[in-house]
Amino acid sequence: MTDAAIEVVDLRHSYGSVEALRGVSLSVPLGSFFALLGPNGAGKTTLVHALCTLLRPSSGHVGVAGHDVRTAPREVRRSLGLVFQEPSLDDRLTVFENLIFHGRLYQVPRRRRSARAWAALELVELTDWANATAATLSRGMKRRLEIGRAMLHEPSLLVLDEPTTGLDVQSRRRIWEYLARLQRDYGVTLLLTTHQIAEAEGADTVAIIDQGELQALDSPAALRQRMGRKLVSLRLTDEGLERRLAERFAERCWQRGGAIWIDADQPEALLHELLTDEASWTGVEGLELVDPSLEEVFVALTGRDLRDQAADPKERLHGAARAGVEHTR
Ligand code: ATP
Repeated sequence: MTDAAIEVVDLRHSYGSVEALRGVSLSVPLGSFFALLGPNGAGKTTLVHALCTLLRPSSGHVGVAGHDVRTAPREVRRSLGLVFQEPSLDDRLTVFENLIFHGRLYQVPRRRRSARAWAALELVELTDWANATAATLSRGMKRRLEIGRAMLHEPSLLVLDEPTTGLDVQSRRRIWEYLARLQRDYGVTLLLTTHQIAEAEGADTVAIIDQGELQALDSPAALRQRMGRKLVSLRLTDEGLERRLAERFAERCWQRGGAIWIDADQPEALLHELLTDEASWTGVEGLELVDPSLEEVFVALTGRDLRDQAADPKERLHGAARAGVEHTR
């Protein structure tokens, strides 16, 4: 018996001459939140497709919930809930019908389908939209419905391939909340691929992948400690201030453990601004400077920027690595 939800050993896959995965090994503990962070083309989707039996890898072992993807694909599929990058709802059906249809596909017993569908709608706060045609939902609502749907057959593991790509900040936050609830209240294991730092910050373990190889595998805190500037961590009592900061820092601002985290270019200057501006200060309950961002770790390890693929990766790699060395001396 293994207590890993996912076990990957020396996984390799090539599309013709393109080596998409070059010997990846990782283990995702049951009930944990695992983020696979990497730029476009890193191999994330290939790994996810191998996990959910959509692709037969060239070599290596993949186990999901104790089942081998080669020998027990059906059991693997039953253990997994999937949310893909591309929309996959039937736009002609209602929200509720989409869920029932999925229940049928996954052989959820008929008498349980309806109750499960309502529970899924409650989870993603779409109960009032049950009878709306899926086509009428916003992009963010569709994604929420896909998350609810993925949980309908009660999988122990939810695999999400860049689920928040193209969504606005509010929709993204909501999705993170649902995922946090699934992990906390239902013990669901989460595997999420992303190229957004803020998303990986909330994970228990982050695997940084680039050009088909794992570059690092550790907790966000351990990875951040490797280098660079500090993050600003704030506890706020003023929702208006929280909103203003969220708008100002967008993807460089996230919530974790009841605090707002900001990856500012000049964290000391931001602290100074918050402390000296009375309108801001009254809404701040606590603030501190903490370890640096994963972005710095990522750039140093891969020589690339996750947001805008660096024009000159080597320059960035050396610059960031030098900064890290200097900092630790
Ligand atoms: P993205 O964020 O863009 O989805 P990714 O990290 O998921 O990127 P993959 O989609 O797994 O990366 O791609 C890994 C490599 O394999 C890339 O070089 C890509 O061009 C290549 N690749 C992916 N699918 C195919 C395919 N069907 N045929 C040929 N090459 C492919």
